[in-house]
Amino acid sequence: GPAPEDPKEVERWLDAHKRSFGNYIDGAWQKPASGEYFATNNPATGDKIADVAQADAADVDAAVQAARKALPAWQALTGHQRARYLYALARQVQKHSRRLAVLETIDNGKPIRESRDIDIPLVARHFYHHAGWAQLLESEFPGYTACGVVGQIIPWNFPLLMFAWKVAPALAAGNTVVIKPAEYTPLTALALAELADEIGLPPGVLNVINGDGRTGALLVEHDDIDKIAFTGSTEVGRIIRKATAGSTKKLSLELGGKSPFIVFDDADMDSAVEGLVDGIWFNQGQVCCAGSRLLVQERIAEAFYAKARARMETLRVGSPLDKSVDIGAIVAPVQLERIRALVDQGVADGATCWQPQSTMPQKGLYFPPTLLTGVHPTATVAQEEIFGPVLAAMTFRTPSEAIELANNTTYGLAASIWSENINVALDVASQVKAGVVWVNSTNLFDASCGFGGYRESGYGREGGREGMYEYLEPAWGHERAKQKRP
Ligand code: NAD
Repeated sequence: GPAPEDPKEVERWLDAHKRSFGNYIDGAWQKPASGEYFATNNPATGDKIADVAQADAADVDAAVQAARKALPAWQALTGHQRARYLYALARQVQKHSRRLAVLETIDNGKPIRESRDIDIPLVARHFYHHAGWAQLLESEFPGYTACGVVGQIIPWNFPLLMFAWKVAPALAAGNTVVIKPAEYTPLTALALAELADEIGLPPGVLNVINGDGRTGALLVEHDDIDKIAFTGSTEVGRIIRKATAGSTKKLSLELGGKSPFIVFDDADMDSAVEGLVDGIWFNQGQVCCAGSRLLVQERIAEAFYAKARARMETLRVGSPLDKSVDIGAIVAPVQLERIRALVDQGVADGATCWQPQSTMPQKGLYFPPTLLTGVHPTATVAQEEIFGPVLAAMTFRTPSEAIELANNTTYGLAASIWSENINVALDVASQVKAGVVWVNSTNLFDASCGFGGYRESGYGREGGREGMYEYLEPAWGHERAKQKRP
């Protein structure tokens, strides 16, 4: 197979930073007020990669103050002027894409093929797309202005892509930002802060603070923030909803999912199996919109499971830097334990567990692709997000039964429908309550397309025109912003 990706360039970059990172506040690297650091590890080896600052209340406050100070001048720029920064950032991402991809893979455990061919290109695309919106701001959103200082909190599953989804629209609309990456995967956000510095983004416009949930909570509670945008678990989403209730903060939430992958008996089975590989085994299944519930029409269920098992035998689990690997490492020990416990629970509740015989690395945090069949629709594994490479399968007889099963969770993020009959596909699509429904495809994303969920999957949309409205407010704020212009 191809030679593994060489991490030398990333090692040099880490060494240049002495493997220790502060918070990026007001255009400079700042040591944490408390002097406290935490380690970020490589999940494939267990080795420490670097130490990262744990921001406390003083650091969060410094970052928010820097963002507040930078706001009037940033808002006073024309959309066209802001667009130049976003275009420059997009070009920086492309120029350094190899380093960013390797860094992402080392910090997160995802296969290099994915970070190189999916994550990082989508990051560049997101900055390019939102540079376009910045240019069109005055003509497309007349009478609107930025929310102000925005606090953003992101998860570890797509560290740099979630960073781009948050930062690009916020800056395009004229907000200034304080963002906190997830504690397992802070490094690419810090690399991007450095790239923003290199293109001369004005100090304070983008601040990156590090730390775990305690730092996130401090950001949510800071009273000089105008909007909070969060992506992460439904559980923490609920905490944030409570913490901001009664405040004047605008809020958007992108939370979990338990998305159905529905296969009708007239589907092209081989395409549907390839769809499954993408739907549940992409990024080790650590995807909010993963097609984690397989609903298959009864008549073809056994044949379809057989095809799925044959394909699973060919999936390679191994070192994420190996270019031929399909399934990399799970991000952290607690996540691996959670996946194991949920699979055990599924079996205890009566499901049949099947895993391929393929070899797994001896060391590191790995979990094999897993198919649970005969899952009861009310079982824990059919209702709770596993966030791992585990598919929970159940059968249906009629389209209306499929719709009922599809909607039978508290979530509503995504759905994928497979049928050669376009009438059936579109009819079912219109009745599944999900933010995005793919027909004969899955996991397609584009910066121009609003993404987000219903119910426990959160509210607000990211991407496209809808996503821009999350970072804008109507005319009164516009007048106020004009008065503030220097
Ligand atoms: P998490 O909720 O534990 O953590 C997400 C972020 O919130 C991290 O940065 C964390 O430090 C921070 N945080 C933790 N406690 C906090 C608190 N009390 N206050 C403020 N911030 C706090 O989630 P996770 O395990 O990192 O991510 C996985 C989850 O994210 C999954 O449930 C997945 O479905 C969801 N997700 C959703 C989307 C989406 O777009 N809907 C995208 C990716 C991931």
